[in-house]
Amino acid sequence: MMLERLATDILILGSGGAGLFAALHAYQTNPELEIAVASKGLLGKCGCTRMVQGGYNVALNPGDSVERHFMDTIEGGKWLPNQNMAWTLVSKAVERIRELENEIGCFFDRNADGTLHGKAFAGQTFDRTVHKGDLTGIEIINRLMEQVWARPIQRLEEHRAVALIPAVDRQALAGALLIDMRKGTFCFVSAKAVLVATGGGPTMYRYHTPSGDKSMDGLAMALRLGLPLRDMEMVQFHPTGLLAGPDTRMTGTVLEEGLRGAGGHLLNGKGERFMAARDPRAERATRDFVSRCIYEEMRAGRTSPHGGVYIKMAHLGPEQVAKQFKGMVERCADCGFDLAAGLVEVVPTAHYLMGGMVCEVDTTTELAGLFVAGEDAGGAHGANRLGGNGVANSTVFGGIAGENMAHWIAHNPDRPAPDEAALQFELGRAQHPFTQARGDLNSLRERLLDIMWDDVGVIRNAAGLSRGRAAIADLEQELLATGLADGERAFNLTWHDWLNLRSLIEVSKAIVAAAQQRQNSRGAHFREDFPDAGDLASSNFTVVRQHGAGLTVTAEPVEFSIVRPGESLLKEAAQ
Ligand SMILES: Cc1cc2nc3c(=O)[nH]c(=O)nc-3n(C[C@H](O)[C@H](O)[C@H](O)COP(=O)(O)OP(=O)(O)OC[C@H]3O[C@@H](n4cnc5c(N)ncnc54)[C@H](O)[C@@H]3O)c2cc1C
Repeated sequence: MMLERLATDILILGSGGAGLFAALHAYQTNPELEIAVASKGLLGKCGCTRMVQGGYNVALNPGDSVERHFMDTIEGGKWLPNQNMAWTLVSKAVERIRELENEIGCFFDRNADGTLHGKAFAGQTFDRTVHKGDLTGIEIINRLMEQVWARPIQRLEEHRAVALIPAVDRQALAGALLIDMRKGTFCFVSAKAVLVATGGGPTMYRYHTPSGDKSMDGLAMALRLGLPLRDMEMVQFHPTGLLAGPDTRMTGTVLEEGLRGAGGHLLNGKGERFMAARDPRAERATRDFVSRCIYEEMRAGRTSPHGGVYIKMAHLGPEQVAKQFKGMVERCADCGFDLAAGLVEVVPTAHYLMGGMVCEVDTTTELAGLFVAGEDAGGAHGANRLGGNGVANSTVFGGIAGENMAHWIAHNPDRPAPDEAALQFELGRAQHPFTQARGDLNSLRERLLDIMWDDVGVIRNAAGLSRGRAAIADLEQELLATGLADGERAFNLTWHDWLNLRSLIEVSKAIVAAAQQRQNSRGAHFREDFPDAGDLASSNFTVVRQHGAGLTVTAEPVEFSIVRPGESLLKEAAQ
């Protein structure tokens, strides 16, 4: 198999908010550097930043403050976030939103007095979610894409990273092995600094929201290098994924939180409104709690025809609903539902992985030359991500990564030679399916979706997690024995499905291991056999590492570097 070799100064894997911001900031810091962005899809057209509907959290308006945003983030994250990362997120978001407006060229919705409009999002004490209607992500990513196009930044589109390749001495990273998906050939890109920004994305669940190009490749590659991942048990479910049957990809996609916020009701299959009895905030309770309540209705068999529950908006006035939620009404109509005047089937859907690579605030990792930002990085959100903190996280830390990679190179100007044995090994690994007899890949994928949904999903317990662990181990063996026809490799999407499934299985094992380790319930992680949150003051976060074929999980103490449980920056500010 032909192996092309390229060399650059900075290699960025992923072209979402994190990847593109990193490219722009690296260029701004040192325009002499060669920068390449490799992406599984087309630049600006792939990943989840483009899919952001709701908006971008930032404390801008009188009455709000970065301290308030910080406390919402820490309390929302159930005291597990890395506080220095959370502080950087909320404080830099102010700078970043100005940059998005004034340098990148984004237009956001405004109040009558010209200030940026902030809308309400669940779990926040201030309406601080800046947006452009309900298409905020398209505005952000399109403008970023134009800025990247306007600079001499190399674009490796439809180039999928399959492995991070260490230097000969294994003390640093030497680059990444990519598949040029258009040609079906391999390409090793040697770089002085590499950013992993492949966007996480829990697409191993039966119902999920992220874009189809995301299959946890970045985290799978990090695991194989022996790098630590934190908070892997923390998978966020959005309560209202559209449920339109198994034959449409629309199933699982998000019906936005604003529907519940505006007063939508959730009804079980018997037509009963079940949230009001469970929480004084009823449907406006937090995402994790509403998801659990829906799941309980489903387990009790009180379901809609496709096995979920209903959302009802008609009591708010069909005309008003049609006006206020035009996009959502159209999306539902495409699937045969009348959101404005009727009932729409919904189900909790896996939306975001709070877990990710362990890193410092400056986006460095344990391995010299390797950086991480965006949804691939763990720490900023802890046990829960506030809606609106996802894209803020990607753009804030993407920019920081770009600057730091440029500074790193100034002090580490050599390009490490790759470990050729590791490169050869990874070339073989990526072609493994061509060495096996053909099998039914889709049935394996379907099984993974069900295992993760049934046993590692919204509500967990010891028996289910053990069952899930064993089933995933079996599935992995079956995948390794399942081959593909070795025909045309250019745009061989079945090959990429196979590789996607392998990454998803590897990261699913890490999710299960962390979920088994955490014997309490925090935020998105709910164990019905350990329903209590545990002592906040002695909070730990999980760290998973791969050693050979096995995983180890440790519990690390949370450092309350800024505020301790029971304290508040707001109270201190008021004193
Ligand atoms: C439907 C939906 C709505 C959302 N709404 C909001 C919201 O309102 N507010 C908010 O804050 N957050 C929201 N989020 C979350 C937010 O989109 C993400 O947190 C954020 O955009 C992630 O940015 P990123 O740059 O890390 O990854 P992404 O933007 O997802 O980009 C990942 C990139 O990595 C590439 N990639 C993947 N694998 C590889 C590989 N192996 N090799 C090379 N490239 C690879 C992808 O093609 C893509 O270019 C939403 C998410 C979804 C799915």
